[in-house]
Amino acid sequence: MLNALSFDVEDYFQVTGFERVVSRADWEKFEPRFQIGLAKILETLERHEVRATFFFLGWIAERYPEAVREVARRGHEIGIHGYEHRLIYEQTPEAFEADLRRAIEAVRKSYDGPILGHRAPSFSIRHDSLWALEVLNGLGFRYDSSIFPFKRERYGIDGAPTRPYKVCGGMLEFPMSTVSVLGKILPVAGGGYLRLYPYAVTKHAIAAMNADGRPAMVYIHPWELDPEQPVINADLGNRVRHRVNLNKTEARLEALCRDFRFGPAREVLGI
Ligand SMILES: [Zn+2]
Repeated sequence: MLNALSFDVEDYFQVTGFERVVSRADWEKFEPRFQIGLAKILETLERHEVRATFFFLGWIAERYPEAVREVARRGHEIGIHGYEHRLIYEQTPEAFEADLRRAIEAVRKSYDGPILGHRAPSFSIRHDSLWALEVLNGLGFRYDSSIFPFKRERYGIDGAPTRPYKVCGGMLEFPMSTVSVLGKILPVAGGGYLRLYPYAVTKHAIAAMNADGRPAMVYIHPWELDPEQPVINADLGNRVRHRVNLNKTEARLEALCRDFRFGPAREVLGI
């Protein structure tokens, strides 16, 4: 079964967990490092002949057009991850639309192919921001991949479908992957969860999803393949969540490519 492999292209200092200690006005002051992880990702995918989806942060695309160009040149799908990495439920629909338009414009500077997909910063489409799907549909997006089908502290919608489904205007939602273990729903196959669980757990979970006829949505960030990145002086919880097992991501991506079939989200959705 074909599963989706996706990368949210942002830098380590732009994550929501550091928002309180790193202001957007200071992003320019950090030495960019996303290229380190991105190079490892592109090399691994090339070796396994796997193509994937890269959701670019507009801020990155604007400053590093060569990164967008290189990813597209290698045959990967280009999607949007917002411009300023703002949580959608903290924005008005108008502000969200303006941020999206800015991101699309930034990507368009170096890429003129189709832009079909969107990934919200920190999965911030939940009950109080479902209007975001209408905004995306209005801008011509064909799918979104941002909804975690169970409630966490900052994101998720309890009871949302766990396989791709239609939302407004025929647009599709490709939900983040979860499995049910002993009656409990567990998030799997991406980001901190991919780093935290032993690989055998992730492998078992994706196999279980596939046996159930559900494609997995794996998501990884370039900074997760850069264990040498500087430590940001955030609170302990965010610091630990950000850094746990950073040195294991590269091998896990390698193992995933070896053990499962992957493609860009648009291909899994058949669009
Ligand atoms: Zn992000």
